[in-house]
Amino acid sequence: MGRRGRRTKEMVEIAKKRIDVLFSLAQKMAEEGNIGFSDRYVDLAFKIGTRYNVRIPGRYRSLYCRSCHSYLLSGTSSRARLNTGKLTVTCLRCGHCYRHPYLKEKKAKRGGTRIA
Ligand SMILES: [Zn+2]
Repeated sequence: MGRRGRRTKEMVEIAKKRIDVLFSLAQKMAEEGNIGFSDRYVDLAFKIGTRYNVRIPGRYRSLYCRSCHSYLLSGTSSRARLNTGKLTVTCLRCGHCYRHPYLKEKKAKRGGTRIA
């Protein structure tokens, strides 16, 4: 427990919240057709993540390209294809493609109530 860390627990919490806000803004902008803004927000989220050493939450993983960090919007900045049992998403900006096993979404949300 070093007291002189550059990042405090508080800073990390703020960084996480900002990443959440940036991703929700990115989604909103993409819905409104402003994908250019979405890219900026994703980029900002990454910058914050890098600065505070905070990982981008896994739930956002399908929203951006892990290679060029652009926002992936099916039909606009990405192309989704269903192959036998697999969903292939191609980033139209850098050509990187992702394969997801095509499974029914498992709803395994565990609501852990934490007592502060
Ligand atoms: Zn890309």
